[in-house]
Amino acid sequence: RAGRHFKPEDSIIEVGGKVKIGGKDLVMMAGPCSVESEEQLLTIAKAVKKAGANMLRGGVVKPRTSPYAFQGMGMEGIKLMKKAKEETGLPIVCEVMSIEQLHEFGPHLDMIQLGARNMQNFDLLKEVGKTNIPVLLKRGLSATIEEWLMSAEYIMAGGNENVVLCERGIRTYETAYRNVLDLNAVPMLKSKTHLPIVVDPAHGTGKWWMVKDLANAGVAVGAHGLMVEVHHKPEEAFSDGPQSLKPEKFEELMTEVQKVAEIF
Ligand code: PEP
Ligand code: MN
Repeated sequence: RAGRHFKPEDSIIEVGGKVKIGGKDLVMMAGPCSVESEEQLLTIAKAVKKAGANMLRGGVVKPRTSPYAFQGMGMEGIKLMKKAKEETGLPIVCEVMSIEQLHEFGPHLDMIQLGARNMQNFDLLKEVGKTNIPVLLKRGLSATIEEWLMSAEYIMAGGNENVVLCERGIRTYETAYRNVLDLNAVPMLKSKTHLPIVVDPAHGTGKWWMVKDLANAGVAVGAHGLMVEVHHKPEEAFSDGPQSLKPEKFEELMTEVQKVAEIF
């Protein structure tokens, strides 16, 4: 169902009744890696809205490498995301890591994110397939294009066709940056699937000062949208501070990617 042969024209996925992913207009998802507090989230939400973002992201459950690292605010965080949505009008996207969280958080969200570490959580994919909530399906840490598309297939096979793919970098031998943002994936996916593609240059590089250049590159190779992490105090962020842009840097990025989008 994800294949071009199945549906030749590009899919456009509607989120929150107003955002369309997959069309001509670049969709910008931005916000903190983790929801940390009301003050933090509202400050960042207002800043990204002002800069022109179309959607607010924020994790309330975090797939941390260490069990002792911040694990997320859970349902309290969902309430804050809803409050930020009320104040800014931005549709919200949050990750879920389990079937339980899907049912608990899903009804409150405009889009659910399935993270890299759960790209092949097949039971979760099947359960998401039974809903009609739009899904941002991130690429697994070392997933091939075929494996990634098969994960999309798991969701679509259940009847949920609202899948958006997110390239977030893959693991290679390189250690100079967190991941290698695989921009090859964008034109390759476009040849194979009608599903929209979002590029995440924050996780793709792990370094805030590389994010803008890779965001521009992502748009140049044809991404339908970008996901960027923003924090007003990156040094104090509970997660992913080193790859988070300050609001003023995010504004610069917004200006540049719009210019790139006009060319391509
Ligand atoms: C995130 O978006 O904060 C995240 C955990 O992403 P990924 O699953 O791509 O590592
Ligand atoms: Mn993150």
